[in-house]
Amino acid sequence: MADIELENVTKRFPGGVVAVDDLDLHIADGEFFSLLGPSGCGKTTLLRMTAGLERASGGRISIGGQDVTRLPPGERDVAMVFQDYALYPHMQVVDNIAYPLKVRKLDKRERRQRAAEAASSLQLGEYLERRPSELSGGQQQRAAVARAIAYEPSVFLFDEPLSNLDARLRLEARTFLKRLQADLGVSTIYVTHDQSEALALSDRMAVMKDGQVRQLGAPKEVFDRPVELFVASFIGSVPMNLMEGRISEDGDHVELRGQRVPVPPAFAGSVGPNDGVVLGVRPEYGSLAAPETPQAITGRIAVSEFLGTQHLVTVEADGLSVQVVTKEAVALDDRVSVVFAPEQSLLYDPDSEQLLA
Ligand code: ATP
Repeated sequence: MADIELENVTKRFPGGVVAVDDLDLHIADGEFFSLLGPSGCGKTTLLRMTAGLERASGGRISIGGQDVTRLPPGERDVAMVFQDYALYPHMQVVDNIAYPLKVRKLDKRERRQRAAEAASSLQLGEYLERRPSELSGGQQQRAAVARAIAYEPSVFLFDEPLSNLDARLRLEARTFLKRLQADLGVSTIYVTHDQSEALALSDRMAVMKDGQVRQLGAPKEVFDRPVELFVASFIGSVPMNLMEGRISEDGDHVELRGQRVPVPPAFAGSVGPNDGVVLGVRPEYGSLAAPETPQAITGRIAVSEFLGTQHLVTVEADGLSVQVVTKEAVALDDRVSVVFAPEQSLLYDPDSEQLLA
């Protein structure tokens, strides 16, 4: 059992930067957990404190029930994979993979055997004698992962391990990592600023900003119900439509410039006449209909972008710009209505920026 418990963890750097701010997090045994957030939000610092590479200024970190807050990295039973892989350039691949086992003082035969097994599970068997500079980027990445596997740790810590790969390799490596982690069942913290990676890989994820967790949940939950505007705008490969408006006098509609749509039923009890709101709907949860469809936004198709199997259509209406993902191609300048799925429509408070229900 190796769950990871972070309690009131804080990191203050000299000069007053609070990189991680009184943060609580529990990662279950065997869970694939991602830390996601914009540059500078404290992801790497949190990971490095868990690894023991950075000392926490306050709080407590335990792994498998053991308080490791003051333990050096070698005594924490964690293996970390870095963004730049951190392979030793002068060592052959096999020695790179086996190096942490040497530090653990395993005998040479066992080191070699475990390194060879890890390498072959990552299809690196034929590269054992090479040096890192003689490997492709994807092979170097796999060598770094092989080193982590061979160590047989209780916890994997990944710091943007795929960010140096090109788009295609990154997708392959992502699928591979997901399968590997599921097979090994090792608790994993995965740091990324790539939201599609976090959504694809994680059992649960935390979206961070300014050293704090802003939302914690399963990918689908975070995608469908961002609890604040920051998360809403950060998550999603096409950005969520966020439209400022006002609740109508009758309390039943959201007025958006000259347009009006029904108040989403789930929010009926949370808003009153004339309240300012921000309506949030993902382009995936909108659809096109004949112009002047009641309870919808009617406008003109301004842009259509081909996404491979779908189209991202931008409709302009009374100065509003709304995006919808459609299956069918559309003609520019056509008049259409945009219908939002009411159960997937969200309302936010424009001042607090929080979800209203
Ligand atoms: P990125 O995605 O760019 O790697 P991040 O979310 O991982 O960002 P961190 O590297 O954890 O962010 O940095 C969090 C904050 O702490 C930033 O404001 C950064 O400038 C600051 N910081 C990080 N390391 C140090 C340091 N050694 N000394 C002072 N400030 C630091």
